[in-house]
Amino acid sequence: MVCPRCEQGEIAATAIRCNGAGLFVCEECEATWIVESEIGARPFVDLGTHMRSLGLAPTWDELDARAP
Ligand SMILES: [Zn+2]
Repeated sequence: MVCPRCEQGEIAATAIRCNGAGLFVCEECEATWIVESEIGARPFVDLGTHMRSLGLAPTWDELDARAP
């Protein structure tokens, strides 16, 4: 799926490593959605802002690739 914000990056299905919560993150601009069905339909959150709000470092190291 191509990111509806930047129209360049792919949306990656990931999970937060420490709690397994799913996230959908653009690999290009890091626009983030929590729910897959809301991608493009609801405003994105910034990956760094979301991670900091959870007390985590705002890096991809905190994320795990999810099985498709
Ligand atoms: Zn993007």
